[in-house]
Amino acid sequence: MQALTSPSLEQAKTLITQGEAVLAQAVWPALEETSYLTTARVLEAMRLNRLGEEHFACVTGYGHNDLGREALDNIFAHALQAEAALVRPHIVSGTHALAVALRACLHPGDTMLCLTGAPYDTLEEVIGLRGNDSQSLKAYGINYRQTSCFENVPEGQKIRLSWSEEETGWLKEAKLLYLQRSRGYSLRPALMITDLEALIAAAKAVNPGLIVLVDNCYGEFMEPNEPTAIGADLIAGSLIKNPGGGLALTGGYVAGRANLVEQAASVLTCPGVGSHGGYMAEMTRTLLQGLFLAPSVVKEALKGMTLAAWLMENQGYMVSPRFDEPRSDIIQALQLGSAQTITEFCRIVQAYSPVSSYVTPIPAEVPGYESPIIMAGGTFVDGSSIELSADAPLREPYTLFLQGGLTYAHTRLVLTQLIASLQKEA
Ligand SMILES: *Cc1c(COP(=O)(O)O)cnc(C)c1O
Repeated sequence: MQALTSPSLEQAKTLITQGEAVLAQAVWPALEETSYLTTARVLEAMRLNRLGEEHFACVTGYGHNDLGREALDNIFAHALQAEAALVRPHIVSGTHALAVALRACLHPGDTMLCLTGAPYDTLEEVIGLRGNDSQSLKAYGINYRQTSCFENVPEGQKIRLSWSEEETGWLKEAKLLYLQRSRGYSLRPALMITDLEALIAAAKAVNPGLIVLVDNCYGEFMEPNEPTAIGADLIAGSLIKNPGGGLALTGGYVAGRANLVEQAASVLTCPGVGSHGGYMAEMTRTLLQGLFLAPSVVKEALKGMTLAAWLMENQGYMVSPRFDEPRSDIIQALQLGSAQTITEFCRIVQAYSPVSSYVTPIPAEVPGYESPIIMAGGTFVDGSSIELSADAPLREPYTLFLQGGLTYAHTRLVLTQLIASLQKEA
């Protein structure tokens, strides 16, 4: 039996109590407030759509006239402040949702412009920046341009709203503007909703016909408003992140302007079927219950991430965002400085996970990445990153990305063990 107390564990507990006192004053009330607003919207969506027991049964086969599927789409649409939504277990991941949204909007000869620098890794093959898949956007004759709206300033990075002559030309010729809200696995900050609003307005001032697609992965319910409320035409995301509330077993969504969402449905299924077919695999109830929990789960995850930021900064590490900085995604970057600290961090996250706690994470080569990656996350749903999980490429500056946490208590427990381990070494 492991000792329940040790000097390092006692020290860690004291430190955590100190951190919690700061956070409960300065940071957590705003998180609670946001979750009240977003919960109210989710509940309103269920009430307005008269959600009832009858919606939980699924129509097999073609899945025609599945009332539950329709209610699910309409409820998500309202919760995400969109005209329409397509919410399906047949959408494999966030990448798939984004790919469906892109294909729905772009035809041969069209140009996609990304204003947020390099997109999330998995989008490279979708766009055709890497590999030579015959189904990439590039292979379909769709052009791609990229520039970055982030500007380095002494305080960090800020958003730039003026464009060079060349960039203005790109904006004018583009059919679709692509913006990634989350930092992804990079050190730039997440785009706040106010930043997104200003960027979209500036871009549409140059080209009013632009279709704006926001990669909303990790962003849902982070702020009172979603991108669809402030000018985005379309958003897409994964259900094994924020909006699935930890209950969704799979799936993704596309939401936004009704005509674009229906075009996305035609890409996902086929013309003629669109959003009107598809067996929901008895998942409608779970997806709705997950949505109901999502605002609270996001808040719990954020309480954990802000504690991680406070503690690690207290221990002398560089963290981004800092504990009291505004957030628009659930990711916490921690600069741990060495492969050894990263490995120890991941060992503890895994050892105190509910599933596969007996596994020891080791760095491995992952296709498409130049350095070995180490990942920890003993999750109930494989790959779910709304559950507590950590990933890090083993290279300078040895940054670990921590995210999720279905309950604050779990993240707190993991961090207690982690700080105790760091104290022991010190
Ligand atoms: C997770 C994520 C994606 C999509 O990833 P999947 O693993 O395919 O769900 C895309 N963009 C961002 C910013 C993400 O965080």
